[in-house]
Amino acid sequence: MNSDEFAQRVLGWYDLHGRKDLPWQQGMTPYRVWVSEIMLQQTQVATVIPYFERFMEALPDVQALAAASDDEVLHLWTGLGYYSRARNLHKAAKHVVAEHAGEFPRSIEGLMALPGIGRSTAGAVASLSMGIWAPILDGNVKRVLARFGAVEGWPGEKKVHDRLWRMAERYTPQNRVQHYTQAMMDLGATLCTRSKPSCLLCPVKDGCEARLLGEPTRFPTSKPRKVVPVRQCVMPLLMNEEGEVWLQRRPPSGLWGGLWCPPQLESEAELESWLLSQALRIESREPLPALRHTFSHFHLDIQPLLLRVAAGTGVAEEGQVWYNLRQPGRIGLAAPVKKLLKLIEAYVPTPA
Ligand code: SF4
Repeated sequence: MNSDEFAQRVLGWYDLHGRKDLPWQQGMTPYRVWVSEIMLQQTQVATVIPYFERFMEALPDVQALAAASDDEVLHLWTGLGYYSRARNLHKAAKHVVAEHAGEFPRSIEGLMALPGIGRSTAGAVASLSMGIWAPILDGNVKRVLARFGAVEGWPGEKKVHDRLWRMAERYTPQNRVQHYTQAMMDLGATLCTRSKPSCLLCPVKDGCEARLLGEPTRFPTSKPRKVVPVRQCVMPLLMNEEGEVWLQRRPPSGLWGGLWCPPQLESEAELESWLLSQALRIESREPLPALRHTFSHFHLDIQPLLLRVAAGTGVAEEGQVWYNLRQPGRIGLAAPVKKLLKLIEAYVPTPA
C-alpha cells in the first residue's frame, strides 16, 4: 500500500468514525490544542476531559495562563501527575506572551523552542490548529506505524524511533493534514489498541505487516523490563487544635516541584530530629494505613502519622501553611497528599 492510499484510507475512516466532539476540538485554537496535548501525554482522554474543561474555565487563553500564579496552575493540575508538564506549560505561556505578543509561533522549530514541547506535540499543535503540514508520533501513532510496518525493536531506541519518524513523514498527506492527524490518534486509541486491536475494522488492514504475520500485538516491542526500586518515607500529618494541617511548598524543581506537601522524612528517627528542630510539641501520635505511590521510575511507600500539635507551637513561615481542610485553598497537591488529606478529614475536631 503506497503512502497516498494509506492516507486516503485513514481519512475515509476518519470521515465515518473519527472523533469530532472532544472539548478541545470545539472552537479550536493553538492554545486549546496545546493544553490538551500536554494533558494527554501519559493520560487517557476520558481522564483528561474534566481537567481540560476546568482548566479552560479558569484560564481560557494564553494571557490568562501567563498571568496565573504557580499555585493556581498546580491546583488545576492536581491529580493529573507528571507536574513538570504543568510547570512547563506555565513557563511556555509566559514566553508566548512576553516574546510573541500572545501568538503561538507558526513553525515547528518555533513551537519546539517553547518549554515542554517536543517534535510530536509541536506537530499536533501545528497540524490540528493551524493546518500546517507536520507529522506527529505520539504513543498511538507509534503503535499504528510500528504494526503497519512490523517495525522490530523498542521505539525508545534511536534507530527505531528515527525509522518511525521517517514513516510518519512519508504517510502524512499534504491535504487535510488536520483530519489525518486526528484520524491517526483516533485509530490508535480506538482500533489499534495495545492488547486487542480490531484489525477487521481497520482501514489499512490489507497492508498491515503485523496483521499479515498474524501477531499484531508483538509490535511495538516493549521497553526492556527493569526492576522498579522501592523507597520508604514517613509523612507526618501535623494537625493543630483547629484541625488545620501543616504543609510546606516543595522546591520548584524535582519531585512534586512547587506542590504543597507534609514534610517527608526517610525514617522515624529522622522524623524525631526534625520535630526537635521545629520546636513542635506533640500531644499525640497515631499511625495511619500505609500507602504506595508509583512514579515512573520507583515506588514510594508512605507511612503517614497523624500528630496532634499543642496549641501555640508550630508557626507557619514563608513557604509553609496551616491548611484548612474545611475550606481548602487553591494550591497544588500531589495525588497521594490529596488522598491523605481526605483520609484525615474524619479527625478534624468539630467546632465548639
Ligand atoms: S490491521 Fe490491526 S494491527 Fe494493523 S494497523 Fe490496523 S488495527 Fe493495527
